[in-house]
Amino acid sequence: MKEDIRGKKIEYLKGVGPLRAEVLKKELGIFTCGDLLKYYPFRYVDRTKFNKVSEVKEEGNYYQLKGTIVRITTMGERGKKRFVAMFSDGSGTLELVWFQGIKWIAEKIRSNTEYIVFGKPNFFAGKMSMVHPELNETSEVEQNAPGVFQPVYHSGEKLSMKGLDSKGIMRLTRVLVKSIEGSIPESLPDDMRNRFNLKGFESSLMNVHFPTDEASLQKAIFRLKFDEFFFGQLRLRRLKMIREAKQKGFPFLTVGEQFNDFYKNHLPFPLTGAQKKVLKEIRVDMGSGKQMNRLLQGDVGSGKTVVALMSMLIGIDNGFQACMMAPTEILANQHLETLKELLSGMKINVGLITGSTKASQRKKITESLGDGTMHIILGTHALLEDDVQFMKLGVVVIDEQHKFGVEQRSRLWNRNETSPPHILVMTATPIPRTLAMTFYGDLEVSVIDELPPGRKPVSTVHRFESQRLKIWGFLKEQIKEGRQIYIVYPLIEESQKLDLNNLYAGYEAVCRDFPAPEFRIGIVHGQMKPADKDFEMRRFLKKETQILVATTVIEVGVNIANASVMVIENAERFGLSQLHQLRGRVGRGADKSYCILITSGKLSQEAKVRLDTMCRTNDGFEIAETDLKLRGPGDIMGTQQSGETGLRLADLAHDEQILLLARDAAKEILEKDMTLEKPEHKALREHYITLFKDKPDWGRVS
Ligand code: ADP
Ligand code: MG
Repeated sequence: MKEDIRGKKIEYLKGVGPLRAEVLKKELGIFTCGDLLKYYPFRYVDRTKFNKVSEVKEEGNYYQLKGTIVRITTMGERGKKRFVAMFSDGSGTLELVWFQGIKWIAEKIRSNTEYIVFGKPNFFAGKMSMVHPELNETSEVEQNAPGVFQPVYHSGEKLSMKGLDSKGIMRLTRVLVKSIEGSIPESLPDDMRNRFNLKGFESSLMNVHFPTDEASLQKAIFRLKFDEFFFGQLRLRRLKMIREAKQKGFPFLTVGEQFNDFYKNHLPFPLTGAQKKVLKEIRVDMGSGKQMNRLLQGDVGSGKTVVALMSMLIGIDNGFQACMMAPTEILANQHLETLKELLSGMKINVGLITGSTKASQRKKITESLGDGTMHIILGTHALLEDDVQFMKLGVVVIDEQHKFGVEQRSRLWNRNETSPPHILVMTATPIPRTLAMTFYGDLEVSVIDELPPGRKPVSTVHRFESQRLKIWGFLKEQIKEGRQIYIVYPLIEESQKLDLNNLYAGYEAVCRDFPAPEFRIGIVHGQMKPADKDFEMRRFLKKETQILVATTVIEVGVNIANASVMVIENAERFGLSQLHQLRGRVGRGADKSYCILITSGKLSQEAKVRLDTMCRTNDGFEIAETDLKLRGPGDIMGTQQSGETGLRLADLAHDEQILLLARDAAKEILEKDMTLEKPEHKALREHYITLFKDKPDWGRVS
C-alpha cells in the first residue's frame, strides 16, 4: 500500500505552501491533509447541463453556458484595467469580465472556438455580466472528462484572497484525492460492509469530492454518513461500558426514613404511573453498586421535579448530600421554593448558591456543605466553582436545557470524589431520539410519558392582529368566569430596550382595553427587582390580578392552576420549544385552557410551520422533532456541542435511519469484541484511535 498521507501537514500538499496553510488553519481548521479530505463539498454542479444565455436571470445562481466569444476589449487605465469578452450562444449575449490575470486570459481566448462558461451573473445598469467566470474550451473539457459533477466548497473572503475560493479549494482537493488513491485502509470489517451494502472507504472519500455519477455520489455519501454515526456510537457506547466496568458507585441500599416519610406524609398527590416507573429505575440504578448515569425525559409539566427530589432523598437516607443544578437563576430560585414547600415539616436543610449569592452567605453555605449539615444544595453553574466542596456528595441532578455536552458532564462527574456521585440529567423539553442518541448516548434513558391526571390538552389557535377585538371579547368572558390570563411579549436579549418599550406599550394598551376597577392587571419582566417580581407574581397567585402581562420570565417554573389562557403576542418571534414551554404554563387546573398565538400580517414559511405545529399538537416529542427539522441540531444543542459530534455529512434531522443502523452495528461489534483487539477489527481500531486520540485508553477495560 502507498503511504497514507492523511496525517501530513497541510502546507506540504502541492499547491498549498505556508501562506495558504495559514488561512486554511485559521478559517477552516484544516491542519492536515486528512482535515482537507474531510472538508466535503456542500453541493455539486452538474456539468452535463447547460443553460441558454436568455435563461440567465438570478444573481447568486450558477449558470453553465456553451457558446463563442464575439468581441474582446480592454478598458480602463493602468492598474484599473479590465478585460471584457462578449459571449454569445445565439439566444443572447453576456459580458465576461476579468480584472486580474488579464494577460493570461487575453492570450487564451480565441475566436471561432466553442467555450464552456461557468459562473454567477451580475446585473448592472441593464447589462448582464459574469466576473471571473470559469472558461474552458469545450473540446478540452470533453477530453479531460472531469466527471459529471463539479464540487462546490464553502469559502470566504480571506480564503479567496489567497486564491482559495471554491475553485481554488477544488484544485487542492483534486491533487489530494489523486494522491490518496491506493493508500487508505478500509475502516470497517468486510462482513459489515456487505451486510449494509457499504461502498469502500477510500472510494467514498474520492467520490464525495469528485463523483463519477449520481449513483456513486449517493453511495459515497451514505457510506460516509454511516461512518460518522458508527464511530460516534462506538465511542459513546465504549465510554459507557468503561464507566460501568470500572466506576463503582455508592450503593444506596436503604430506602429509608426520609424517603418514606415524604412519600407517606408530605407528597401532596399520588405519583403517576410513569413517575413510579421512573423512580423504580432510579432506585435500581442507585442500589446496584455502579454509578447511575440517567437521562430523565418528560414533557413540560410531567412532574420531573418531584422525581428529582425523591431521588435526592434516597441519597440522604444513605448518609449523603445531594445537589441540583439549574440553567438559570430564576429556575434555581423556583426549585428552592418548590422544594422548601414540599419538604416543609421535614428536617432537611436546603440551600441555594447562584451568581448573586453574597460572599458572606456563600461562605456560610459552603461551610455547611463541608461539615455535612446542608443536605440539599440548589443552584446554577456557580455550584461548579472550587469553593463548593461537599462532605459526602452522593446525588447530582442536572435540570438542564441541553447545556452540557458529554465532555463537560464527565468533568462534572469526576469532581474530586473517590467514587463519583449518581447523576440524573433532566431535560427541560423532550429531545428527539437522534439527538438523545448522539448527545446522551452514554446515558440510560427514562421517559415520563404520562401527565399528572386532570390535565386537559390546551386548545391552541392562531389569530391575526386584525382579530384583536374578538380576542379581547373572549378574554373578558373568561375573566367573568373567574379565570386568569397571561399575555406574553417577546423579549430577546439583543434588543432588550426596544422590546421592553414594546412590553410597556402593550401593557398600557391592555390597561386601556381592560379598565379598572372591573379588571386588574399586573406586569412582570426580567429587568425588575426580584422583590417586585415576587410581589406581582403573588398578587396574581392570590387572584388579586386577573391579567398578567409578562415576558418569557414566566416560561419556566411558574405554576398557577387557575390561569387558563395564554396569549402570546408576536408569536412568530418565538421558537417552537419556547412556545411549547409557555403553553405549558396553562392547562394545569381543572378548567378548559386556551393558548392564543397572535401575529401580524406577513409570516415567513418557517414561522407558519411553527404556528401550525403548535395548533396541531400538544405532544412535546412531536414538537421537538419538528423543531429539529426547522432549526437543525446545532441551534438546539448549542454550537459548542455540535462540534463535539464529529458529524459533517450526517444530519440528525434527516438521517435517523442511518443512525439506527450504525448504532446497532456498533453495539454488535462491542458485544463481540469490546477492546477491538480481534484481528478482523484491526483497521477499525486504528481508525477509532485516529479519530479520538485524546480519548480514554483501551488497556484499562477488560
Ligand atoms: P416539569 O416536568 O415540567 O419540571 P414539574 O415537576 O414542575 O414539571 O411539575 C409540574 C406540576 O405538576 C407541579 O405543580 C407539580 O406539583 C405537579 N405534579 C407533579 N406530579 C404530579 C402528580 N403525580 N399529580 C399531580 N400533580 C403533579
Ligand atoms: Mg422542571
